[in-house]
Amino acid sequence: MIDWRNGSDLDRVAELRIDPEWVLAAWSDPDAVLLRVGEASVEAGADGSLLTRRVEAAFDPEVHYLLGRIDGRPWFATRVRAEEELTALRTVMDGLPAVGLQAAFTAVGLTTWHDVSRFCPRCGSATRAVHGGQSRKCTACGLELYPRTDPAVIVAIVDPDNRLLLGRQPVWAPGRYSVFAGFVEVGESLEQTVHREMAEEVGLALTGVTYLGSQPWPFPRSLMVGFLAHTTRDEPVPAVGEIELARWFTHDELVVAMATGEVILPPHTSIARRMIESWLDGSLGS
Ligand SMILES: [Zn+2]
Repeated sequence: MIDWRNGSDLDRVAELRIDPEWVLAAWSDPDAVLLRVGEASVEAGADGSLLTRRVEAAFDPEVHYLLGRIDGRPWFATRVRAEEELTALRTVMDGLPAVGLQAAFTAVGLTTWHDVSRFCPRCGSATRAVHGGQSRKCTACGLELYPRTDPAVIVAIVDPDNRLLLGRQPVWAPGRYSVFAGFVEVGESLEQTVHREMAEEVGLALTGVTYLGSQPWPFPRSLMVGFLAHTTRDEPVPAVGEIELARWFTHDELVVAMATGEVILPPHTSIARRMIESWLDGSLGS
């Protein structure tokens, strides 16, 4: 399990990757490995472990992207179109070691960004990958583009009796419940997003919004920012079409609902799961 509060074992070599000769030498390193990924998928073994390949092809900066170094070993990623050769990241991510998960999340997020950044948003000309694939540059006007991350808030709402509000979206698998989330809009602070989104989604006014932590979520390119918020004992009013159900749980009610299968929590890798489990063990926000 990765602890996103600590520094990463993936060394992103920011000072080195700006030198194309250094990137080429890293590619030629006999210890270099290539991680093949798709849209929210990775190459994985039957046991769910991450598969990496020896670097064999000639280096092509348009398809081979440097992730960084792990234990001194260069890691590259490339996008595979044949999704049938890959495994859904969601199905294996809970079993990956911390640094493997970090590499997989980075690879999927980075290759997805390259996929949609082939043309300059200012002048429409072609862009080319630079700095080992950590940015792109317009071939005509010179505009520099950097990988996008879309911030989203995710909120554990508790009432004065320390009940936790969980809900479900109509598109989720039966039984899946989670805390509530929404994307940051232009010109908003994260805390303002918390207030707006929770008013929209469950019709509750909040007090005491405090930061809990964050983690990347490459489906397709989010940064989830977790918050704890307090509210009154009011009943939630779910947003029509967006939230199918929202209800308060006591500790005992949630434990029983999980045991019977009535409630299925999000994956262990998600910040939502950690927030809910922290609430269950009494450590949320402490
Ligand atoms: Zn341009």
